[in-house]
Amino acid sequence: MKNVLLIQPLPSLIYKNNTELYSEFDSFGLAIIATFLEKNNFNITNILYLSSEKELEKELVNIDIIIIGDFRYYSYFCNPYFLIQQCLVSLEKFNFSGKVIIGGRHSDFFSETIKGNQNRLKIYIASSVESIGKSLGLKSSDFLILGKNTLPCPYPINLKFLNNDKLTGSISRPNRLNIAQIIIDSGCKFNCSFCEKARSDIQSFPIRYLLKLLEDYATIGKNYLIFWDEVFGKSKNTDSILNLLKELNLSFTCNTRLDSLNIEFITKLAIGNCKSILIGLEVGGNENDAQNYLKIDYRKKKYLEKLESIISLLNEFNIDLIGSLIIGLPNDTEEIISNRILHYSNLGLKKIYIRPLVVFPGSAIYLESIAKNIIKPYEEWNNTELQTYPLGYPTICRNLNREDLSQWIKN
Ligand code: SF4
Repeated sequence: MKNVLLIQPLPSLIYKNNTELYSEFDSFGLAIIATFLEKNNFNITNILYLSSEKELEKELVNIDIIIIGDFRYYSYFCNPYFLIQQCLVSLEKFNFSGKVIIGGRHSDFFSETIKGNQNRLKIYIASSVESIGKSLGLKSSDFLILGKNTLPCPYPINLKFLNNDKLTGSISRPNRLNIAQIIIDSGCKFNCSFCEKARSDIQSFPIRYLLKLLEDYATIGKNYLIFWDEVFGKSKNTDSILNLLKELNLSFTCNTRLDSLNIEFITKLAIGNCKSILIGLEVGGNENDAQNYLKIDYRKKKYLEKLESIISLLNEFNIDLIGSLIIGLPNDTEEIISNRILHYSNLGLKKIYIRPLVVFPGSAIYLESIAKNIIKPYEEWNNTELQTYPLGYPTICRNLNREDLSQWIKN
C-alpha cells in the first residue's frame, strides 16, 4: 500500500507575519481527495496544513506520494504559486524522492513554470479528483467520472478528514470547533467579468452523501455550517437541505446573489435556520462604468437599489447581511474607493469585507488584460516583487499601487 501525504501550504509559510488568518477550517477539497484515495487503497498518513518548513521534514519518512495544492482557495490574499513553490523547494532540500502531485484549481496555469524550476522532483499536475486518480495510475473504471473539475466525491466523505482540531481558527471565527463547512454545488451560470467561475459548469454533490454528511456533522457536535457554494439557493436540492438543517437544528451562513433575496427565498432560509448571508456588492450603486466593467447584470443592479429594504426584511428574520466590495478597478482612486465604502456603510449591513480585484486566470478581465498587454500571462508572475502580502498579484489599477490598495483591505 502506498503512503500519501497531503499538503495544504498556509500563507504563513511565506508570509511570516501572518500566523493566524486563513487557517480556520479543514479543506473540503483535501477531504474529498483523501476519501477518494483511501477508497482506492492508498494509506493517508496525514493532511498537513503546513506553516513552516521544519514541520515538513519529519513527515517525510516512508512517504511515497505527496499531493500539494491550493485546496483552501487563499488566492484572494496570496498567490498559490508561491505557496506551492516553497513546498517544492523544501522537498528538494530534504531530498524527497517520491512522486509529487500538484493539485488545486490553479495548478494548470503554472504547471510549466513549476516543472521548469525543479530539477530532481518527479512532478505531476492534476486539478481534480479524477486527474489525481489518473496521475496515480488508476484507470477510469476505478472511480466515477463526474466532470472535468470534479468537485463531487464519488463516495461519502470520511469525516476524519474534515475534523482536524489542530487548526487554529481565525479572528473572525475563533470558535471553529463548532463550525463545519459544506458545498452543495460548485460552478456558476452568471457572467461576472472578474470571476474565474463565470459560466462554469455546475457540479453537484450526490444528495444522499450530502445528507449523510449533515447528519455526521450533527452527531459530532457541529452546530453551525458554512455553505461555500458559489450561489446558494440555485440547487434543485436546496429545499431538502433546508428541511434537514431545520430537523437537525443546525444554523448556517451561505453565499448567495443579492437578486436571489426575494421574500420567498428569505422565508425559506429563515425556516432553515440561516443566520447570515454573504453577498457581493462589488461597487457602489451609482458607479455605472465600474458596474459595466464588472458585468454586473440588470437583475443585480435592480436589487442594489433596494438594498435598504432587503436588509430590513432580513432583520425581521434575524438574518445578518455581510457584503463584499471590490477595490482596485482600473479607474479607482482613493476618493472613489472612499465613496464606495461610504455608500454602503450606513445601510445596516452587519459587516463589509473589502477585497482587491484579483485578475484571476480564467476570468474575462484576465483575458482582456492579457490581450491588451496590461499584464503578463500567469506563468510569468513568478517575480519576487509579487510576493508582497496580501496581494501577490499584479494590480490593474492605474492610480494606486498594491501597497496603496492593501491599506484598504479589511476583514
Ligand atoms: S462572482 Fe459570483 S455570481 Fe458572479 S460569476 Fe462568480 S460566482 Fe457567479
